[in-house]
Amino acid sequence: MRSSATPRDHGRLIEGGTSGSTGRPIRFLASEVCDAFWHAFTLRDHLWHRREFGGKLAAIRSRVTPGAGSGWGESTESAFRTGPAVMCNTELPMAEQAQWLMRENPDYLISVASNVQALARHCAREGLRPSRLKEVRTYGEALHPDARAEIAAAWGVPLTDLYSCREAGYLALQCPQHEHYHVQAEGVYLEILRADGSSCVPGETGQVVITGLYNFAMPLIRYAIGDHAEVGMSCDCGRTLPVIRRITAVCATCCACPTAACVIPASARPSSRALRPCASFRWSSAACARLKSRWWSRASSTWMKRAHCAHW
Ligand SMILES: [Zn+2]
Repeated sequence: MRSSATPRDHGRLIEGGTSGSTGRPIRFLASEVCDAFWHAFTLRDHLWHRREFGGKLAAIRSRVTPGAGSGWGESTESAFRTGPAVMCNTELPMAEQAQWLMRENPDYLISVASNVQALARHCAREGLRPSRLKEVRTYGEALHPDARAEIAAAWGVPLTDLYSCREAGYLALQCPQHEHYHVQAEGVYLEILRADGSSCVPGETGQVVITGLYNFAMPLIRYAIGDHAEVGMSCDCGRTLPVIRRITAVCATCCACPTAACVIPASARPSSRALRPCASFRWSSAACARLKSRWWSRASSTWMKRAHCAHW
């Protein structure tokens, strides 16, 4: 849904796109107000987790040009003077990422969750630990249940996750005192719903549905983002923002096909062991009767297909 009358003072409109967590490409429209909220939530994340702005930040992101910058980026530099930042991309083999990490020896590392988990596993095997590393940050994918333990074992540092999406910005930040998340309720009305559309209560897992509160260029109203999450109890940290106990990707829970026209039955879902070597995972379906599974294999760096997912 695209507005034909975005408020003039919301600034310039920007078009963007993403491959989408379910494999369905998504195009979106945002305004400069969205950037302002992005900056604010980025700063909140830094402040909640008491990061030292003079430290060196290393980012390993998808499809970026490796390089170095003088600061942590526009969001942080708008308010604080920061240390340097360096970047490399997730397409590099793990051994090269590990060498780069050791060479750069950053204070903070940020990457997509599956990539950083695979990197930690590689470093643990090779006995590689960047001596200055204080914290690992993840984004973009649901955390594997073993991720925190593997990162702690490899590097002896905590993992801080955040929950965001390209089309709606920050959704939730990890509580600085717990592993659960606080919904960024100033920017999004986030619902976690049962199959019948009613709201889940603490301890229940349901579909995440969001309503954006500041993007007037392309309003998202009760938008099913494709994830599932568990409602958490109120937090004892003093923050009253709603709590998400954990977030699970579509592939780990219901495996809806990209058209959302069908749901793959439980018997056909991959086991966690099958998912373990995957950097990312998606389903495709030419027709509901001919489901295929595809997953990105780090080993071969190619899309692999299996016609009969039930054989898993
Ligand atoms: Zn809290």
